[in-house]
Amino acid sequence: MAEPRSNELMEKIVSLCKRRGFIYQSSEIYGGINGFWDYGPLGAELKRNVKDLWWRHIVHHRDDVAGLEATIIMSPRIWEASGHVDTFSDPMIDCKTCKGRFRADQANEIPCPQKPSKMVSECHGEKTEPRAFNLMFTTHVGPVQDDSSVAYLRPETAQAIFAQFKNVLETSRQKVPFGIAQVGKAFRNEVTPRNYTFRSREFEQMELEYFIKPDEVVEAIQGRVAPAGDGHPGEPQSDWGWQRWHKYWVEERIRFYESIGLPRTTLEEYWQTPEELAHYARATVDILFQFPFGTQELEGIAARSDFDLSQHARCSGKPMAVFDEELRTAWKDLEEPRRQALWQRYHDARYGYLTRSGVDPEAAAAMAKDDADGLAKGNYVPHVIEPSAGVDRLILALIANAFSEVSETDAKGKTETRVIMRFHPRVAPIKVGVLPLLRNKPELVQKAKAVRDLLRPHLTVFYDDGGSIGRRYARQDEAGTPFCVTVDFETLGEKGPELADTVTVRERDTAAQTRVPIAELAAMLIAKTR
Ligand code: ATP
Repeated sequence: MAEPRSNELMEKIVSLCKRRGFIYQSSEIYGGINGFWDYGPLGAELKRNVKDLWWRHIVHHRDDVAGLEATIIMSPRIWEASGHVDTFSDPMIDCKTCKGRFRADQANEIPCPQKPSKMVSECHGEKTEPRAFNLMFTTHVGPVQDDSSVAYLRPETAQAIFAQFKNVLETSRQKVPFGIAQVGKAFRNEVTPRNYTFRSREFEQMELEYFIKPDEVVEAIQGRVAPAGDGHPGEPQSDWGWQRWHKYWVEERIRFYESIGLPRTTLEEYWQTPEELAHYARATVDILFQFPFGTQELEGIAARSDFDLSQHARCSGKPMAVFDEELRTAWKDLEEPRRQALWQRYHDARYGYLTRSGVDPEAAAAMAKDDADGLAKGNYVPHVIEPSAGVDRLILALIANAFSEVSETDAKGKTETRVIMRFHPRVAPIKVGVLPLLRNKPELVQKAKAVRDLLRPHLTVFYDDGGSIGRRYARQDEAGTPFCVTVDFETLGEKGPELADTVTVRERDTAAQTRVPIAELAAMLIAKTR
């Protein structure tokens, strides 16, 4: 029976990625290790570009976000407070016949051991009852390996942001609303890694925790909370409550994906239903991408209330509330009924959080009262909106989206199909190929190397003098290089002075060629690739 087209496409993608050095199986010479992938020369550049663009978009282009780079191994108490030790698990079942181990909801399909991009049906043997399997990798810190030295490889980058919230707040001189961003490795011992790099055991995340005022505080200061509204809500305003901020970040993230070449039509927003939401989340939107194996999550954007900071405050004993002078002043001027109503709402939310977290009702009532009394002093625990993206899933989405095949028939009537990776110039691993028309003409080579050195400080350049010019263009097309610069006899002035010191710039997607003076080359290519 013919394979579905999606599998064929995935197989082509996997094979191209290996052949061209985007992605290799980790430890391949020893037979590989399931759920781990390495990025080759082109993949490493692509990944670097994606992370740099995210960082620039989220941190450098804004006044209200600061960066963090925390360790992978942290105090295990962080993972107790976050809930990962108790609840970060998937239901796992064993097959009594084939001895395979599967996620209960995925037992009908597993990745083929020979071709990880292909899903095969699992045997129909008798299965055990599902049991919880914690996804965190454990290790030991220090020379003694016992329960007291257990530590975890972080399963997400977010928790370090919460744990360092106070330090960043103080040292960055930010004020709520503001965000803390982090890019880095995360590890999850996925029961069944699948769909190539989509579900890996070691991967990278790009996470932002954007801290906002609780709605009661916005209302106390501004007199109202702006309704959620439709579409991108525009520049942030001081009367935004969590719903507007959440919408804002969903729209910002989609804009980001569009800006690096994922068309809006390949993306979908999925709003989690109340039954799917984590108990502390007010809303979560998954941004989905149409992968060849199905439409699946690229990023999640969750409105997580004040759950995370509250948990760390409770478990560490270190206060996470912030002081806000504006709130203290505004509170004094509120009319008594409004003050009472806001106090009550804040109190009830805190009481709800505390009792759900296991604090007994009497103690919870006293703590919630203290918290609500804090409003009059200008104190509150910030809420958070969390856009959390996976680098590797985005790389896979960009590769799948860029992949295209063209069939060309040569003069002898021979038809060849070749791949063009149509990456957006912003993410393309190599921005410019520099090619001397012939490799055995020292003047051409010398000039081409001078052009390469001129561009190199600004752009990723690949110098290639091997094979016919057509072959070299094809090689760069397959790597996704958006521009090739060819140095020819015109450049040397051999065809007349007017073309001296000009080069041919060829565009990957149209194959159009234009003549450009070398003096204008760098500025032109920088503009086209930024
Ligand atoms: P899924 O439901 O697909 O397992 P998740 O909802 O558990 O994902 P989050 O915990 O929200 O994922 O993590 C945020 C992002 O990190 C995801 O949107 C995804 O891009 C990335 N991510 C999570 N798990 C993996 C993984 N095993 N491999 C690659 N990327 C991952």
